[in-house]
Amino acid sequence: MAYNRTIFIGVLLPSLDDVRNRLNSVSSCFCLAKWATVTLHLESGTNHSCHHPMVHETPVEELKSNPSSLHNTKFKIEQRKAMVSGERPKECGYCWNVEDLKSESAISDRYLKSGAGHTFPLFDKIVADPFNAKINPSYVEASFSNTCQFKCSYCSANFSSTWADELKEHGPYHNDHGNSYVKLYKEEENPYIKAFWEWWPDLKKDLHTFRITGGEPLLSPNTFRIMESLLADPQPHLNFNVNSNLGAPEVLVDKFIFSTTGLLNSKAVKAVKVFTSIDAYGARAEYIRHGLRHDYFWNNVECLLESHEDIQVVIMCTFNVLSITSFKHLLDKILEINTKYPPKGKELRLGIDIAYLRHPLHMAVNMLPPEYLEHMKEIEGHLVRNQSDNQDGSVGYSDLHVIKIRRIIEWMQKGLSEAELKKNRADFYKFFKEHDRRRNENFLEVFPEMDSFWNLCKEAAGEDLV
Ligand code: SF4
Ligand code: SF4
Repeated sequence: MAYNRTIFIGVLLPSLDDVRNRLNSVSSCFCLAKWATVTLHLESGTNHSCHHPMVHETPVEELKSNPSSLHNTKFKIEQRKAMVSGERPKECGYCWNVEDLKSESAISDRYLKSGAGHTFPLFDKIVADPFNAKINPSYVEASFSNTCQFKCSYCSANFSSTWADELKEHGPYHNDHGNSYVKLYKEEENPYIKAFWEWWPDLKKDLHTFRITGGEPLLSPNTFRIMESLLADPQPHLNFNVNSNLGAPEVLVDKFIFSTTGLLNSKAVKAVKVFTSIDAYGARAEYIRHGLRHDYFWNNVECLLESHEDIQVVIMCTFNVLSITSFKHLLDKILEINTKYPPKGKELRLGIDIAYLRHPLHMAVNMLPPEYLEHMKEIEGHLVRNQSDNQDGSVGYSDLHVIKIRRIIEWMQKGLSEAELKKNRADFYKFFKEHDRRRNENFLEVFPEMDSFWNLCKEAAGEDLV
């Protein structure tokens, strides 16, 4: 898998070897992400430095003396102490597993995240400070609320209030998918959001990137408050990113577009990127992401691109069992839009990142029968035929897109044991049968081409085919 290394080295500063040597000069367990990056789940009062460790709670009493304790919790400072002392924090097992492979091509996220452009420049400061210093991170992702009008089939009550409402009305799903539900604070009386606003005047000066996530950020007044504060007190070094399902009421989408163009026109931020999600095309996409209105979504994508030439939109596709049969149409739609809004430089104004879904297991593509590998090869061929370096007026996909689809194919080819297949397929049938009942949907009307797979799952669930 030599290609991984080449690609990742391309985004590292200044080179993988340099990053490795400098990190390991402190300790073989040292990772800048533990200091420089954080995701704040303010609605639940939890955080983690990167997405691999489980979130941990931020004790409210720690916020009283210093609001940066939203990031610099006592727990995290203990993990930092372990790192500089050459001990591996247990919560970072994802990276230690990769490093223990001792393979040249297996590069752990400790190097990749530490070497990122927003992280590596902090190396000298982090090393010079005592391990227990309260540091401002350079990359912050924050969610203020789980309020969301969608209930995407792979989401859960923790992230979507509409999912939570469905559970209250109908009870849990059989295999616990989507049922996890931690205590959440109301946005207007949340002590973590209060601490965030106390920290913000100091934090924003040190930020390379601030990304708002949710729930659906356009439904949160705090999203607009952030934009107002940036307009009033410009931070021209800041990359401002927002995740949005682009399905909020028109009045909010218009307000958001007005605010983002205002930020760019007044150079109050360096750049604006909107991350959105869609995983298939047409009615199939609407089925996966309940609440999505397909035409409205694409119209909003175009309104954003139209509003300012410096706005970039990136689709985060969670590739799952229901993506495959309409994926080529999605790829075509993305190119059609990019033809209307040509790239600046080499980068498409409407990008797509393709990540494959791992959870819930009953929606992961590795449970599909072998004939779906043929569909995947067609998608790969379609991408290859539509590759371009995005120069001279042409638009197309990159090597990285092809590599990501090939990775999914490799993963599918590894397969699962008979027992795993049976369980995941039975769960698929039970989940979507109940999903259709609750949401007044009909799987076979939306995916008639998947009828034999549906029957396979029905049999696995022990139901007779009639
Ligand atoms: S060592 Fe790995 S898991 Fe731990 S913070 Fe760094 S990148 Fe994340
Ligand atoms: S839009 Fe996002 S938060 Fe809302 S249900 Fe879908 S995945 Fe969950």
